[in-house]
Amino acid sequence: MLQGKTALVTGSTSGIGLGIARALAQQGANLMLNGFGDAAEIAQLQADLAAEFKVQVEYDGADMSQPAQIEAMMAHAAARFGRVDILVNNAGIQHVAALEDFPTEKWDAILAINLSSAFHTTRLALPAMRAANWGRIINLASVHGLVASAQKSAYVAAKHGLIGLTKVTALETAQSGVTANAICPGWVLTPLVQKQVDARAARDGLSGEEAKRALLLEKQPSGEFVTPEQLGALAVFLCSDAGSQIRGAAWNMDGGWAAQ
Ligand code: NAD
Repeated sequence: MLQGKTALVTGSTSGIGLGIARALAQQGANLMLNGFGDAAEIAQLQADLAAEFKVQVEYDGADMSQPAQIEAMMAHAAARFGRVDILVNNAGIQHVAALEDFPTEKWDAILAINLSSAFHTTRLALPAMRAANWGRIINLASVHGLVASAQKSAYVAAKHGLIGLTKVTALETAQSGVTANAICPGWVLTPLVQKQVDARAARDGLSGEEAKRALLLEKQPSGEFVTPEQLGALAVFLCSDAGSQIRGAAWNMDGGWAAQ
């Protein structure tokens, strides 16, 4: 379905971004990976994805908190593949602390990585998408783009902002073949969430399994984690022709979290 298209997925060396990159590659899209990690492991990941899905896989290690590095990454993608057809803004970090204790440098980093990076990639990807009259912009927001939780001020503010950016992008592209939407996952068991499971286990004297269960049941009615594979399938659907009139949506996949 996506043969000949190029997908750039920020933060795709791990977790949800990797799940989405795999799902798009399975449909034939060439990949531009991005994210941090061990250089040898990333080279292996590139080779494995290329072999498994018979697509071309490039990598750029740009730091999403640095606009100049984002510009260089977008130029790298254009030089390698001609243009980016599918842009998945997924890179993100979390920090949990009360407002009055929230480190200001963490606030700045979360806003830069979880929100401003999507502004930069989007503004740089749009001209070629418009010229081709086809594009898909998928922003990995969160259920925290729809509702708040205590102790997550920067994350909740960034994710609400990302949904706002998604809506503006959708309006500005509404009469074109470019669509923009946000995906809003609930809990997904990735390294980002494992840290919160570990913190809860230490705080409450729980085993790892007990801490997972407690974390889930506090917010996510299904009591089950969402998976990167399920999120990948949703991203593929948004890229399909059936998705062409889904514009400016903030689509939650959250085990019922936001229904409460
Ligand atoms: P993760 O920690 O497994 O992966 C994050 C990815 O982003 C990694 O590849 C990491 O290297 C990359 N990254 C981090 N900082 C970066 C930077 N400065 N520049 C470039 N890359 C950077 O996390 P995840 O859970 O897969 O999260 C992915 C996205 O999904 C995030 O935006 C997160 O907010 C969102 N999300 C996660 C959950 C969840 O439960 N895990 C729920 C809702 C939304």
